[in-house]
Amino acid sequence: MSWDSAELKPCNGRKCTFCGARTPIYYRRYSGEMLCSTCFKKNIVERVRRTISRYDLLRPDDRIMVAASGGKDSLALLKILQIIEADFPKSELIAVTIDEGIGGYRERAAELVERFASSLGIPFYKMGFEEFYGFTLSEVVEAGIHRRLGVNPCTICGVLRRKALSLAARKLGATVIATAHTLDDVVNTYLLNLLKGERNIKPVGLRREGEGVVPRVAPLRLIPEREIALYAYLEGIPFQSETCPYTHSSMRDRIRNFMAWYAAHKPEALYAFLKNFERMLKPPKAENRCAICGEPTSRRICRACELELAIKRALGRLDPDEAEGLEREPHVGDYEEEA
Ligand SMILES: [Zn+2]
Ligand SMILES: [Zn+2]
Repeated sequence: MSWDSAELKPCNGRKCTFCGARTPIYYRRYSGEMLCSTCFKKNIVERVRRTISRYDLLRPDDRIMVAASGGKDSLALLKILQIIEADFPKSELIAVTIDEGIGGYRERAAELVERFASSLGIPFYKMGFEEFYGFTLSEVVEAGIHRRLGVNPCTICGVLRRKALSLAARKLGATVIATAHTLDDVVNTYLLNLLKGERNIKPVGLRREGEGVVPRVAPLRLIPEREIALYAYLEGIPFQSETCPYTHSSMRDRIRNFMAWYAAHKPEALYAFLKNFERMLKPPKAENRCAICGEPTSRRICRACELELAIKRALGRLDPDEAEGLEREPHVGDYEEEA
């Protein structure tokens, strides 16, 4: 992430817009506000609190499962929710890291989450692909299965992580899954969907209840990623900066880079896009449920289940009764739009 020197210089001897006393450390270009470190941190928590109530994301008695990858966004979310939920004694927070089984990479991240969660007094759980699917991502990549299926490892990982989160939430009795998607992530997901020609674009990170499905919410959906990064830095939150060994340049990365460049010139662009785009979204239609896992899907079997079965078949581990579920091989591009 690159910083514009105008955002960080001490604002020419002026004082913080909020407290009027301390020296600002951040100039918020889209609002013209200058914030000191203390007011910036308070303001981020306050904005997340307002986002939650504006969209009715969380209930006072929720058992909230935070999807914590170990990156800065997810640990910042854990910290922010811990502050906000302290006002709701009936609510509970738990942190979950999904271990795809990528060598030591995710293990180091999980240790980081575990230490951070325990410092906040939040119960931590690690659950893995091995446990849910009977294979690890490393196994899939080393056997070259992603190439045979024509799907890149990040796509496999993203789709199966998403499903693993649902399975973990059910297992742990969570009533809602909180993900750390920021304003940038939400906008990029909409753009990807739009560019793919998707017709029924669903709102990202807004609570949608459905029987047997644990809803997903994104409490950081109105906060730009750079402000979450600054929050994590100011709070001294340790996070994993090591990149995944299987990372590659995806369409999402290119869109992310383009939008980051655009927003650097027009800082209000991400908000404007989100606001206008969501105004145009049609109310979601009643959806079909996956015949295997019960999650909403437009097809008979959801993409995650289809991918899981295709991988099991390639590994020679498909049960005969599972084989019936597999109608076709997944192909590239089918999975890109998931948030
Ligand atoms: Zn201040
Ligand atoms: Zn499914």
